Amino acid sequence: MQTISVKGRSVPALGLGTWALSGRQCYDAVRAALELGYRHIDTADMYGNEAEVGRAMRDSGIARDAIFLTTKVPPGKLRAAAARRAAEESLRKLATPYVDLLLVHWPSSEAPLAETLDAFAALRREGKARDIGVSNFSPTLLKEAVERHGADLLCNQVEYHPYHAPPALLAAARGYGMMLTAYSPVARGRAAGDRALAAIGRKYGKSAAQVSLRWLVEQDGVSVIPKASSRLHLAENMAIFDFALAPEDRAAVAAMAA
Ligand code: NAP
Repeated sequence: MQTISVKGRSVPALGLGTWALSGRQCYDAVRAALELGYRHIDTADMYGNEAEVGRAMRDSGIARDAIFLTTKVPPGKLRAAAARRAAEESLRKLATPYVDLLLVHWPSSEAPLAETLDAFAALRREGKARDIGVSNFSPTLLKEAVERHGADLLCNQVEYHPYHAPPALLAAARGYGMMLTAYSPVARGRAAGDRALAAIGRKYGKSAAQVSLRWLVEQDGVSVIPKASSRLHLAENMAIFDFALAPEDRAAVAAMAA
């Protein structure tokens, strides 16, 4: 598995997104992903599936420290005490002493950013989160977090795929030595049915979804977290590290977002 080297950490470039997976389906998808070699799982308080994610991780028999686990604190729980309660409750549900990455799920005007970031930094100092980061932050807000409040953030998780890849988002993350985690990396399934991506894929014996994911992980500092519920899709999304897009194909995909 390709990894991203960011701030001294090594993060698997491909993870499993678990939004909209719940109950048995979530448990089975996480188990299957781990069997297939995934070592990066993305969940959130808001997804309501942390217990299933944690159980699947434990039942897999894979050492906890071999898996990069992300969870997120929702926008309504970003005041200091609420953020702490939410993060600790996530750890309880996940049945793990720490997450690798704790994210602010969405910015919120209800909580002062500095207060949230301080609460997150305290959780990191206590070892409850190895790293902290944000999600859905604009370049302006990221600048405020890093430059005004001095936050040391590992990543900004944002919507990023062939139809939506604002260069400013990636430039902002890179400028601070951070990773950009691309959510909805197959555009919620739309890219999988894209005829232009499929035509590119035929040259490499790959699918349209694989071209979308490959185009993303070929960008320095970008990780992807596609959600897939079937073993077929899970395996397909893993098989993106044995080919490279030719420059003209990379440019053609980039032009889709422009
Ligand atoms: P996505 O991963 O782009 O797309 C998921 C959809 O694509 C599912 O319907 C899935 O189908 C299908 N799919 C996946 N691989 C496929 C393949 N190889 N061929 C054909 N279809 C395929 O969208 P997403 O779920 O919105 O985003 C991924 C993850 O990002 C989420 O699960 C969540 O963890 C995270 N996320 C974060 C935020 C945030 O605010 N931070 C927001 C949205 C998402 P099947 O399920 O049938 O396999």
